[in-house]
Amino acid sequence: MSGPFDPRAHSARADELAGRVIAITGASSGIGHAVALACAQHAAEVVLIGRDAKKLEVVHAQITASGAPQASIAVLDLEKALARDYDQLADALLERYGRLDGLLHNAGVLGTLTPIEHYDVPTWCRVLHVNLTAAFALTQVLLPALKKSADASVVFTASAVGREGRAYWGAYAVSKFAIEGLSQVLAAELEGISQVRVNTLNPGRARTAMRRQAYPAEDLETLPLPTALTAPYLALLGPASRGVTGRAFDAQPASATAGPGSSAASSDALSSRN
Ligand code: NAP
Repeated sequence: MSGPFDPRAHSARADELAGRVIAITGASSGIGHAVALACAQHAAEVVLIGRDAKKLEVVHAQITASGAPQASIAVLDLEKALARDYDQLADALLERYGRLDGLLHNAGVLGTLTPIEHYDVPTWCRVLHVNLTAAFALTQVLLPALKKSADASVVFTASAVGREGRAYWGAYAVSKFAIEGLSQVLAAELEGISQVRVNTLNPGRARTAMRRQAYPAEDLETLPLPTALTAPYLALLGPASRGVTGRAFDAQPASATAGPGSSAASSDALSSRN
């Protein structure tokens, strides 16, 4: 590899993910939907994970209609799933594919934008559970399948507010800080003893339902569509990032992903940087 690896600079070949099995959480909508379609279009066999079977069936049909390799659906509600649900998913995946080459933890919830002083404790627990604990549990149960791959990649979804704290982002920001920690710890544990690499990717601002929830007054038309952000995901999930582990990446230029930056910057929750 020449020069430092930058997934934003990568342009994937049409068949770059051929022969790879890639599982994506939150594949039903937003960024996860776009990345699932892009992976399939680049010849991956995609495992669509989500809580809503009907929405996943729509994505599955889109992949089938595009002529891409057949996808499969795994219904898993990350808020409610129990140990046996994770085990069933892992068993079914191993039985069908025999291994897993890519795992994108994309599903997430925003919770509320509230000062810590007033943050609702049940909401805090739900956000930490979906955004962090469920990603940990799913990774743990899928590690045997990832270790059976010759070149496996785990990608956790980050956020600018999980790299530099910002007022009012509460449990969401804390969950994203923690996901960076989980990624670093796991990468360090697996480096040198497995072919599994582990990184984080901050998509930056994107035109999705979560963004609408965070910034209801914003003109969504000014933001990139998720389909415009898929290239760095393909780079991290595919062979382009072989050997790269324990790193934190951005899908967009710094100006589109920056957090508050300096202490002099606004801490307004409605600031449009994310
Ligand atoms: P989104 O459109 O709201 O999509 C969130 C996805 O997570 C949906 O597929 C949703 O499923 C799924 N999900 C939520 N709760 C779930 C649960 N309990 N079990 C299983 N799946 C669940 O949001 P997005 O903007 O695409 O966000 C994708 C990722 O990017 C998130 O991790 C987010 O934190 C991160 N991110 C987004 C932005 C942005 O500007 N959009 C910026 C930085 C980081 P349903 O379809 O069933 O609702």
